[in-house]
Parts: sequence; structure tokens; C-alpha cells
Amino acid sequence: MAHDCLFCKIAAGEIPSSKVYEDEDVLAFRDINPVAPVHVLVIPKQHLGSVADLRPEHTELLAKLFAAVQRVAAETGVAETGYRVVTNHGKDSGQQVLHLHLHVLGGRTLGPVA
Ligand code: 5GP
Ligand code: ZN
Repeated sequence: MAHDCLFCKIAAGEIPSSKVYEDEDVLAFRDINPVAPVHVLVIPKQHLGSVADLRPEHTELLAKLFAAVQRVAAETGVAETGYRVVTNHGKDSGQQVLHLHLHVLGGRTLGPVA
């Protein structure tokens, strides 16, 4: 586990979260400060800082993350109505938590992408 990483602690169950989906490699849980009726974070259990840390050896993990996105969409009821998947990297994006996460947003009409 990366030292003092919030999402590593959530993945390890050391900090509670409102879990939506979990498997061996991936965890999905509700954002603590939702900006849409559905706002779920999908993370790899292994520590990666952001999308910028993805390498060819993560191909399978990346597929699992997006498979989890589909499961989350189905389980939160937005698979048909639509949803947005967002990930931040670095200062200009406003990334706050330095552990790769996909925001799954839905449940209302979303504005144009920033
Ligand atoms: P970022 O800006 O890094 O892309 O997004 C980080 C997200 O993590 C934010 O939407 C924020 O609300 C969420 N977040 C921060 N701390 C916690 C926490 O302790 N639990 C949960 N469930 N979400 C958190
Ligand atoms: Zn981490």
C-alpha cells in the first residue's frame, strides 16, 4: 500500500466506504461529496497515481476497471439513461486524490464537458 494514500486505505477496508461493486482487483464506492445523483468512484485496488501511470502491463486491469463501470451503471440505474466517465490527472484537472479513480456520473442531464 502506498504510504498514507486515502484510496489505498479505502481499498483495504481501513476507511469505510459505501460500496457499489467489488472484485479481486477493483472497488467501486460512492463519492463522499456527490456532484450528481449517481457519483461513484471506480478504483484499482493496487496503487497507481493516475491515468499517467498506466503501462502496457495494466491492459487487463484497465479492461476490468471499465467492466466495473458497466456494472456500476447497471446497479445504479443509469445504464439506459446515460452516464459520464471522468478521470483527472495533475494540477490543471484539480485532481485531489493521487490514486487512479474513474468518476461515474449520472442520474441527471450533465452539462457540456468542461
Ligand atoms: P479528484 O478531484 O481527485 O478527481 O476526485 C477525488 C474525489 O474523491 C472527490 O470527488 C471527493 O469528493 C472524493 N473523496 C475524497 N475523500 C473521500 C472519502 O474519504 N470517501 C469518499 N467516498 N470519497 C472521497
Ligand atoms: Zn493508493
